[in-house]
Amino acid sequence: MASPLAEAEVVRVRASGKVNLTLRSGPRRPDGYHQLATLFQAVSMYDELDVRWAPPGQVSVSVTGEQAGLVPTGETNLAVRAARLLAQEYGAGGLGCTMELRKTIPVTGGMAGGSADAAAALLACSVLWDLDVSPDDLLELGARMGADVPFCLTGGTAMGTGRGDRLAPVLTRGTYHWALALSDGELSTPEVFGRFDELQPSGNAELEVPPEVLNALISGDAAALGRCLHNDLQEAAVSLRPQLARVLEAGLELGALGALVSGSGPTVAFLVPDERTGLDLSVGLTGEGLARVVRRVHGPVPGARLIA
Ligand code: ATP
Repeated sequence: MASPLAEAEVVRVRASGKVNLTLRSGPRRPDGYHQLATLFQAVSMYDELDVRWAPPGQVSVSVTGEQAGLVPTGETNLAVRAARLLAQEYGAGGLGCTMELRKTIPVTGGMAGGSADAAAALLACSVLWDLDVSPDDLLELGARMGADVPFCLTGGTAMGTGRGDRLAPVLTRGTYHWALALSDGELSTPEVFGRFDELQPSGNAELEVPPEVLNALISGDAAALGRCLHNDLQEAAVSLRPQLARVLEAGLELGALGALVSGSGPTVAFLVPDERTGLDLSVGLTGEGLARVVRRVHGPVPGARLIA
């Protein structure tokens, strides 16, 4: 197949991380997954991916950023796997690319960084290779890659059911300000779900997003949203990393409207009323040694998007 773009040309995509405003989990299913009811919000923390044409069958990635050392660069990299899946399904395998990934989303931080990179690769390669794939096709491929990948393609605020991959957009008003406390060390998603299974073998019986969360979002009421943030995995994450309890408490004392462990952690997300409180919280938590760094972001923002 001829290259639709000159060899030196680059397609650049950026993809956002997410926080779960609600995360409710049922018990482990026979297929190993958990039935979820979750509400995602994409936030302004981005990984950037550049892709360029390469000879057929060659797919490679290089990674830069503070935590680059934690990200595999071989065939297990989620961006590589996504590019390979797309090439196999839509290009008879005869396509190639080199990718440069600049990571900002924390690795194994509960913010779907790897899923964001998979979403970025699906979008970027579909443009680089000029493939006839629709947004729905990309969502379907995304769901095959991982439960969070479809949301990373769409972004915004959305309800996820099934494994979290069946999405419905949610109406929201206004912009929400977040302070994200990043800590050293990782918490693996399977380990956190494993502890959840021990603590709550029959899962949460109420597998729905509570109406008060949806009402808060539709009326743009950050204070009301702060009161109903909830994550079923939080207890498991805190039991594996007891320090998180202190982080949650300290952020609330510093003026957050609400707080929760993001996804499977260890990132802690604080909803704040304004940027000023975000700054105070950032200074307070890092000053007390409770966070490696605090990032101030906002949401909702779009998912994976072309920027060049
Ligand atoms: P989630 O919130 O979706 O459960 P996470 O944000 O906690 O996931 P990720 O950063 O997605 O975690 O990383 C999960 C694992 O995937 C890590 O072990 C990491 O080494 C691996 N991985 C593979 N490819 C990537 C990638 N492109 N970026 C980040 N991690 C990757």
